Amino acid sequence: MQLHRRVLVTGGAGFLGSHLCDRLIEQGREVICLDNCFTGDKSNVYHLIAHPRFEFMRHDVTMPLYIEVDSIYNLACPASPIHYQHDPVQTLKTSVHGAINMLGLAKRTGARILQASTSEVYGDPEIHPQTEDYWGNVNPLGPRACYDEGKRCAETLCMDYHRQHKVAVKIARIFNTYGPRMHPADGRVVSNFIIQALRDRPITVYGDGSQTRSFCYVDDMVEAFLLLMDSPDGFIGPVNLGNPGEFTIRELAETVVELTGSASKIEHRPLPQDDPKQRQPDIALAGRELDWQPATSLREGLKPTIDYFEGLVREGVA
Ligand code: NAD
Ligand code: UDP
Ligand code: UDP
Repeated sequence: MQLHRRVLVTGGAGFLGSHLCDRLIEQGREVICLDNCFTGDKSNVYHLIAHPRFEFMRHDVTMPLYIEVDSIYNLACPASPIHYQHDPVQTLKTSVHGAINMLGLAKRTGARILQASTSEVYGDPEIHPQTEDYWGNVNPLGPRACYDEGKRCAETLCMDYHRQHKVAVKIARIFNTYGPRMHPADGRVVSNFIIQALRDRPITVYGDGSQTRSFCYVDDMVEAFLLLMDSPDGFIGPVNLGNPGEFTIRELAETVVELTGSASKIEHRPLPQDDPKQRQPDIALAGRELDWQPATSLREGLKPTIDYFEGLVREGVA
């Protein structure tokens, strides 16, 4: 029998989850895609619905789930500030109760579980680039805390279920990822800038645009998830996954304007509270343990992303 044949993907109708479902189906796995459709949409997996090895399940991870699976990718959680701040208590419940339920499921079934953590566990980092042994600089009381602290607690739960109950866990610290099927209204910088450029509207740069981010294309990230899940038992992480290429937000704005051939001009808006000034992953550990590094440059990845949003703008969806 093939290893990890029955795979549960929570948040499977979301941006990253739907691409992961695509790859798992390609690999011949049986995929259960679980989602409460808060920020994700069934349209992201419509093309898989009729597939004999694919099953969509509408369910909230804050509720217990009794099914039989061999591995679990726990991705369920709103990921953009607009969405996770919409109902902060539910965001915390999703990260914390969701992790408890999925770890409980892993414990009962003996499944491996990969937890989608985030670079936000580093908060506004004082060391640069961030390595996995850095404990972070998170404001536990601010508007981003429901997400950051929820994800930190989920990591703690993973480690404790591993130490106490021998659950096989893998912790992925995901840095900003972009690509087709990003939510058009999630307020993320890549989707905002592309849609603004395609409509020849002002590009809204928050602050002076000197803050930096590193952007990973979705196909590279999904590849890393698969490698991490199949890595030897002894490797738990946490492991940084992202593209170390670092860009200022102003550079991103200029690149998007150039690639879309847009007439848009840059306009500055106030910087949101607790907005990290810089973020860049150190991915040496992923290189060593998973033999992984991203293959797609920002320019290469922006092209299919722009094509995707062009389609949405044409259909009047974005
Ligand atoms: P997304 O919003 O597209 O996907 C999250 C999915 O989870 C959505 O389909 C949503 O409906 C679902 N969901 C939310 N709450 C749920 C609940 N209580 N029960 C069941 N389903 C629920 O976001 P994404 O970018 O695909 O993010 C996927 C995961 O990766 C998240 O855990 C996120 O925190 C993490 N992550 C993403 C990034 C990124 O740049 N995209 C960066 C760091 C971490
Ligand atoms: N759980 C679940 N599916 C399972 C097993 C457990 O959803 O197959 C949930 C259940 O809500 C439980 C939680 O996971 O409360 C944690 O499980 P654990 O076995 O650690 O705790 P206990 O059942 O002892 O409270
Ligand atoms: N940002 C921006 N204009 C926008 C949206 C975001 O200048 O229209 C900035 C934002 O202030 C942050 C960076 O882009 O400095 C990345 O924001 P995003 O919300 O995409 O991700 P995160 O802050 O979670 O890394």
